[in-house]
Amino acid sequence: MPQKQLTEEEREIYEWQMWVSDFAEAGQEKLKNASVMISRVGGIGGLVAYQLAAAGVGKLVLAHAGNVQPSDLNRQLLMTHDWIGKPRIESIQRRLLELNPRLQIVAVNANVNDENSADLVAQSDVIVDCAPRFVERFAMNRQAVLQRKPIVECAMYELEAQLTTVIPGQTACLSCLFPTESPTWRREFPVFGAVSGSVACMAAMEAIKLISGIGTPLLNRWLRYDLRDMQFRTLKIQRRADCEVCGLIM
Ligand SMILES: [Zn+2]
Repeated sequence: MPQKQLTEEEREIYEWQMWVSDFAEAGQEKLKNASVMISRVGGIGGLVAYQLAAAGVGKLVLAHAGNVQPSDLNRQLLMTHDWIGKPRIESIQRRLLELNPRLQIVAVNANVNDENSADLVAQSDVIVDCAPRFVERFAMNRQAVLQRKPIVECAMYELEAQLTTVIPGQTACLSCLFPTESPTWRREFPVFGAVSGSVACMAAMEAIKLISGIGTPLLNRWLRYDLRDMQFRTLKIQRRADCEVCGLIM
Protein backbone atom coordinates (compact mmCIF):
# COMPACT_ATOMS: atom_id res chain seq x y z
CA MET A 1 0.00 0.00 0.00
CA PRO A 2 1.32 3.49 -0.80
CA GLN A 3 2.45 5.38 2.29
CA LYS A 4 0.25 8.32 3.24
CA GLN A 5 2.06 11.65 3.54
CA LEU A 6 1.45 14.18 6.30
CA THR A 7 -0.99 17.02 5.65
CA GLU A 8 -0.15 20.61 6.55
CA GLU A 9 -2.54 20.35 9.51
CA GLU A 10 -0.71 17.26 10.79
CA ARG A 11 2.67 18.96 10.43
CA GLU A 12 1.32 21.69 12.69
CA ILE A 13 -0.21 19.33 15.26
CA TYR A 14 2.83 17.06 15.59
CA GLU A 15 5.45 19.79 15.27
CA TRP A 16 6.78 19.50 18.82
CA GLN A 17 7.37 15.74 18.69
CA MET A 18 8.91 16.02 15.20
CA TRP A 19 11.57 18.16 16.87
CA VAL A 20 12.89 14.87 18.33
CA SER A 21 15.78 14.69 15.88
CA ASP A 22 15.91 10.94 15.18
CA PHE A 23 12.10 10.79 14.92
CA ALA A 24 11.36 13.86 12.73
CA GLU A 25 8.86 13.86 9.86
CA ALA A 26 9.83 10.34 8.72
CA GLY A 27 8.88 8.96 12.16
CA GLN A 28 5.59 10.84 12.12
CA GLU A 29 4.73 9.38 8.70
CA LYS A 30 5.41 5.91 10.05
CA LEU A 31 2.95 6.55 12.91
CA LYS A 32 0.34 7.82 10.46
CA ASN A 33 0.63 4.63 8.42
CA ALA A 34 0.64 2.30 11.44
CA SER A 35 -2.08 0.28 13.13
CA VAL A 36 -1.95 -0.61 16.84
CA MET A 37 -4.18 -3.19 18.52
CA ILE A 38 -5.06 -2.55 22.18
CA SER A 39 -6.57 -5.40 24.15
CA ARG A 40 -8.87 -3.88 26.81
CA VAL A 41 -9.12 -0.14 26.76
CA GLY A 42 -9.61 0.39 30.49
CA GLY A 43 -7.25 1.66 33.19
CA ILE A 44 -4.09 0.90 31.23
CA GLY A 45 -5.36 0.49 27.66
CA GLY A 46 -7.42 3.67 27.76
CA LEU A 47 -4.33 5.75 28.41
CA VAL A 48 -2.33 3.81 25.82
CA ALA A 49 -5.05 4.57 23.27
CA TYR A 50 -5.24 8.22 24.31
CA GLN A 51 -1.48 8.73 24.02
CA LEU A 52 -1.30 6.96 20.65
CA ALA A 53 -4.26 8.97 19.35
CA ALA A 54 -2.52 12.15 20.52
CA ALA A 55 0.76 11.06 18.92
CA GLY A 56 -0.90 10.57 15.53
CA VAL A 57 -0.99 6.78 15.09
CA GLY A 58 -3.24 6.33 12.04
CA LYS A 59 -5.36 3.41 13.14
CA LEU A 60 -6.30 1.80 16.46
CA VAL A 61 -7.92 -1.62 16.76
CA LEU A 62 -9.72 -1.71 20.11
CA ALA A 63 -11.38 -4.59 21.95
CA HIS A 64 -13.35 -4.01 25.15
CA ALA A 65 -16.66 -5.50 26.30
CA GLY A 66 -19.30 -4.35 28.75
CA ASN A 67 -21.02 -1.19 29.90
CA VAL A 68 -19.53 1.70 31.87
CA GLN A 69 -19.82 1.20 35.64
CA PRO A 70 -19.27 3.77 38.40
CA SER A 71 -16.25 1.77 39.61
CA ASP A 72 -14.53 2.25 36.21
CA LEU A 73 -14.25 5.99 36.66
CA ASN A 74 -11.27 6.19 39.05
CA ARG A 75 -8.89 4.99 36.32
CA GLN A 76 -10.58 4.29 32.98
CA LEU A 77 -10.21 7.82 31.73
CA LEU A 78 -11.99 7.28 28.40
CA MET A 79 -15.22 6.46 30.29
CA THR A 80 -17.43 9.38 31.27
CA HIS A 81 -20.03 9.81 33.98
CA ASP A 82 -22.84 10.46 31.50
CA TRP A 83 -22.13 7.09 29.82
CA ILE A 84 -22.74 4.90 32.94
CA GLY A 85 -24.81 1.88 31.87
CA LYS A 86 -23.96 2.31 28.17
CA PRO A 87 -21.29 0.45 26.13
CA ARG A 88 -17.73 1.25 27.13
CA ILE A 89 -16.53 0.93 23.54
CA GLU A 90 -18.78 3.85 22.52
CA SER A 91 -17.40 6.10 25.25
CA ILE A 92 -13.87 5.08 24.21
CA GLN A 93 -14.45 5.98 20.54
CA ARG A 94 -16.12 9.27 21.35
CA ARG A 95 -13.31 10.45 23.60
CA LEU A 96 -10.57 9.41 21.20
CA LEU A 97 -12.24 11.16 18.25
CA GLU A 98 -12.70 14.34 20.30
CA LEU A 99 -8.92 14.40 20.64
CA ASN A 100 -8.06 13.21 17.12
CA PRO A 101 -10.87 13.26 14.53
CA ARG A 102 -8.44 11.96 11.87
CA LEU A 103 -8.02 8.68 13.77
CA GLN A 104 -9.29 5.50 12.13
CA ILE A 105 -10.82 3.17 14.74
CA VAL A 106 -11.81 -0.48 14.50
CA ALA A 107 -13.95 -0.94 17.61
CA VAL A 108 -14.95 -4.37 18.86
CA ASN A 109 -17.51 -4.66 21.65
CA ALA A 110 -15.90 -7.87 22.97
CA ASN A 111 -12.79 -8.92 24.83
CA VAL A 112 -10.05 -10.88 23.08
CA ASN A 113 -10.65 -14.62 22.80
CA ASP A 114 -9.53 -17.55 20.66
CA GLU A 115 -12.23 -16.78 18.08
CA ASN A 116 -11.46 -13.09 17.40
CA SER A 117 -7.72 -12.86 18.16
CA ALA A 118 -6.46 -13.93 14.70
CA ASP A 119 -8.48 -11.26 12.90
CA LEU A 120 -7.55 -8.52 15.40
CA VAL A 121 -3.85 -9.30 15.18
CA ALA A 122 -3.96 -9.51 11.36
CA GLN A 123 -5.14 -5.88 11.21
CA SER A 124 -2.32 -4.60 13.41
CA ASP A 125 1.39 -3.81 13.17
CA VAL A 126 1.94 -3.71 16.94
CA ILE A 127 -0.14 -4.99 19.87
CA VAL A 128 -0.38 -3.58 23.38
CA ASP A 129 -1.84 -6.12 25.79
CA CYS A 130 -3.56 -4.57 28.80
CA ALA A 131 -6.07 -7.33 29.57
CA PRO A 132 -6.59 -8.25 33.22
CA ARG A 133 -7.26 -11.97 32.63
CA PHE A 134 -4.69 -14.59 31.64
CA VAL A 135 -7.07 -16.34 29.25
CA GLU A 136 -7.26 -13.17 27.13
CA ARG A 137 -3.53 -12.52 27.34
CA PHE A 138 -2.64 -16.07 26.36
CA ALA A 139 -4.99 -15.88 23.34
CA MET A 140 -3.35 -12.61 22.27
CA ASN A 141 0.18 -13.92 22.84
CA ARG A 142 -0.44 -17.08 20.80
CA GLN A 143 -1.69 -15.09 17.81
CA ALA A 144 1.01 -12.42 18.06
CA VAL A 145 3.69 -15.13 18.05
CA LEU A 146 1.99 -17.00 15.18
CA GLN A 147 1.71 -13.85 13.08
CA ARG A 148 5.10 -12.52 14.22
CA LYS A 149 3.75 -9.21 15.50
CA PRO A 150 5.50 -7.34 18.33
CA ILE A 151 3.52 -7.18 21.54
CA VAL A 152 3.97 -4.83 24.49
CA GLU A 153 2.94 -6.59 27.69
CA CYS A 154 1.92 -4.36 30.58
CA ALA A 155 0.14 -4.97 33.85
CA MET A 156 -0.30 -3.46 37.29
CA TYR A 157 -1.42 -4.34 40.80
CA GLU A 158 -1.97 -1.92 43.68
CA LEU A 159 1.03 0.46 43.42
CA GLU A 160 3.17 -1.91 41.36
CA ALA A 161 3.46 -2.25 37.59
CA GLN A 162 5.42 -4.25 35.04
CA LEU A 163 6.30 -3.95 31.38
CA THR A 164 8.18 -5.88 28.69
CA THR A 165 8.22 -5.91 24.89
CA VAL A 166 8.05 -9.16 22.96
CA ILE A 167 9.44 -9.68 19.44
CA PRO A 168 8.38 -13.22 18.47
CA GLY A 169 11.37 -15.39 17.63
CA GLN A 170 13.79 -12.97 19.32
CA THR A 171 12.64 -12.44 22.88
CA ALA A 172 10.85 -14.17 25.71
CA CYS A 173 7.09 -14.21 25.15
CA LEU A 174 4.34 -14.07 27.79
CA SER A 175 4.24 -17.88 28.02
CA CYS A 176 8.01 -18.01 28.59
CA LEU A 177 7.41 -15.83 31.67
CA PHE A 178 4.12 -17.46 32.72
CA PRO A 179 3.83 -21.05 31.40
CA THR A 180 0.55 -21.32 33.27
CA GLU A 181 -1.85 -18.85 34.81
CA SER A 182 -0.34 -17.08 37.80
CA PRO A 183 -2.16 -18.35 40.92
CA THR A 184 -1.97 -14.93 42.56
CA TRP A 185 -3.56 -13.08 39.62
CA ARG A 186 -7.01 -11.68 40.37
CA ARG A 187 -9.67 -10.23 38.08
CA GLU A 188 -10.54 -7.49 40.57
CA PHE A 189 -7.71 -5.85 42.43
CA PRO A 190 -6.68 -2.69 44.24
CA VAL A 191 -5.77 0.05 41.76
CA PHE A 192 -5.01 3.75 41.50
CA GLY A 193 -5.50 5.39 38.11
CA ALA A 194 -2.13 7.09 38.39
CA VAL A 195 -0.40 3.69 38.58
CA SER A 196 -2.20 2.25 35.55
CA GLY A 197 -1.58 5.54 33.75
CA SER A 198 2.14 5.40 34.49
CA VAL A 199 2.66 2.00 32.88
CA ALA A 200 0.26 2.95 30.05
CA CYS A 201 2.40 5.94 29.06
CA MET A 202 5.51 3.77 29.01
CA ALA A 203 3.73 1.12 26.92
CA ALA A 204 2.59 3.80 24.46
CA MET A 205 6.18 4.99 24.15
CA GLU A 206 7.33 1.42 23.48
CA ALA A 207 4.77 1.20 20.65
CA ILE A 208 5.95 4.53 19.20
CA LYS A 209 9.56 3.30 19.36
CA LEU A 210 8.73 -0.01 17.67
CA ILE A 211 6.90 1.76 14.84
CA SER A 212 9.36 4.59 14.27
CA GLY A 213 12.58 2.69 15.00
CA ILE A 214 13.93 5.19 17.53
CA GLY A 215 15.52 4.18 20.83
CA THR A 216 15.85 0.73 22.38
CA PRO A 217 12.72 -1.20 23.39
CA LEU A 218 12.50 -3.36 26.53
CA LEU A 219 13.57 -6.56 24.76
CA ASN A 220 14.40 -9.52 27.01
CA ARG A 221 14.13 -7.08 29.89
CA TRP A 222 11.28 -6.97 32.36
CA LEU A 223 10.72 -3.62 34.03
CA ARG A 224 9.07 -3.97 37.43
CA TYR A 225 8.45 -1.04 39.70
CA ASP A 226 6.67 -0.07 42.87
CA LEU A 227 5.41 3.49 43.16
CA ARG A 228 4.92 3.06 46.93
CA ASP A 229 8.65 3.58 47.43
CA MET A 230 9.70 4.49 43.85
CA GLN A 231 11.79 1.35 43.37
CA PHE A 232 12.50 0.54 39.72
CA ARG A 233 14.19 -2.72 38.68
CA THR A 234 14.86 -4.22 35.26
CA LEU A 235 15.26 -8.01 35.25
CA LYS A 236 16.99 -9.85 32.44
CA ILE A 237 14.76 -12.53 30.95
CA GLN A 238 15.19 -15.04 28.14
CA ARG A 239 13.22 -17.36 25.90
CA ARG A 240 12.52 -20.83 27.16
CA ALA A 241 13.40 -23.49 24.58
CA ASP A 242 10.48 -25.57 25.86
CA CYS A 243 7.93 -22.72 25.64
CA GLU A 244 4.72 -24.17 24.21
CA VAL A 245 3.99 -20.96 22.28
CA CYS A 246 7.26 -19.56 20.93
CA GLY A 247 9.55 -22.58 21.42
CA LEU A 248 8.80 -23.89 17.92
CA ILE A 249 9.58 -20.75 15.93
CA MET A 250 13.05 -19.61 14.90
ZN1 LIG B 1 7.65 -18.16 24.71
